[in-house]
Amino acid sequence: MLAGKIVTIGEILVEIMATTTGNGFLEPQPLVGPFPSGAPAIFIDQVGKLGHPAAIVSAVGDDDFGTLNLERLRRDGVDVSAVAVHAGAATGSAFVRYRPDGGRAFVYNMRDSAAGRIAATPEAEAVLAEAGHLHIMGSGLPVPAVADMILKTLPGLKARGGTVSFDPNIRREMLRDGSKAIFHTVLAATDLFLPSGEELSLFSGEGDEDKAVAGLLATGVREIVLKRGARGASHFSQEGRTDMPGFAVTEIDPTGAGDCFGATFLVARRFGKPVAEALRYANAAGAHTVTMQGPMEGSAGFIELDRFMAQTRSL
Ligand code: ATP
Ligand code: MG
Repeated sequence: MLAGKIVTIGEILVEIMATTTGNGFLEPQPLVGPFPSGAPAIFIDQVGKLGHPAAIVSAVGDDDFGTLNLERLRRDGVDVSAVAVHAGAATGSAFVRYRPDGGRAFVYNMRDSAAGRIAATPEAEAVLAEAGHLHIMGSGLPVPAVADMILKTLPGLKARGGTVSFDPNIRREMLRDGSKAIFHTVLAATDLFLPSGEELSLFSGEGDEDKAVAGLLATGVREIVLKRGARGASHFSQEGRTDMPGFAVTEIDPTGAGDCFGATFLVARRFGKPVAEALRYANAAGAHTVTMQGPMEGSAGFIELDRFMAQTRSL
């Protein structure tokens, strides 16, 4: 196993979901939640579940929403020493409702919540100074304090042999503002790139999949794993290409699939598993997640994933 913790930086939220489909929150309606959530939190929870040392740099309020997240992360083995608890601030939240067309309507309380106050505290600096791997979530890059911490961590991390993974987790619109430069800086330091769908071509501007992959590998990205939803995933490196079909499941709630997938591929590789096996585990983790309501409710350790793979048909 490679030494050092996997560390990520970013938002911890609760998610509260509408139990009916429809367009948003303009009338009273039944809801379910709060569920622990936030893409970086989902990712790091899955790392902890798989038994790999893990830590998150984040912030919550001193309220029940913060407490339920901290208890879940601790239970699953994540070091939360660098999660600041802000007295009087509210923990971030996301209300989500599925539209009839499968899209999602959100009401976010993020920027004005504790999640908007993530900062380079002494505890954060201590955790980052000892990281063996940094997982960067693109959704956090437009936050100046988060981008700053990442840029300050990268040189030392790389100098001591540490590695970087990057899940862009963005839409095209986010790339238009001033944050474009930081995305390219991060990509230049990335060992493992984890795009889904059109994110592969966002940076190169190259629509053709093979050409986009070739371009990224030429700039020094060592491994690319393209997530393809229910269809599984493809891995690309200088050694070639590996495609792996997904597992046949009934999708209940897709939130969190990409994060659990990325965490599982990364941990499996750090534990020395070959690419094909790591892809199978990652597909299983993503598929397992979508069968449960709540973004973190489907996170699973290796024993559960082995059982799931033995019982579930590939597509
Ligand atoms: P997210 O919506 O969480 O950002 P993503 O877009 O990053 O996710 P997806 O490709 O949607 O990533 O899902 C990640 C992985 O989870 C897929 O590669 C696949 O292995 C698994 N997965 C997702 N949806 C399904 C599904 N409906 N059935 C089976 N497996 C799935
Ligand atoms: Mg998706």
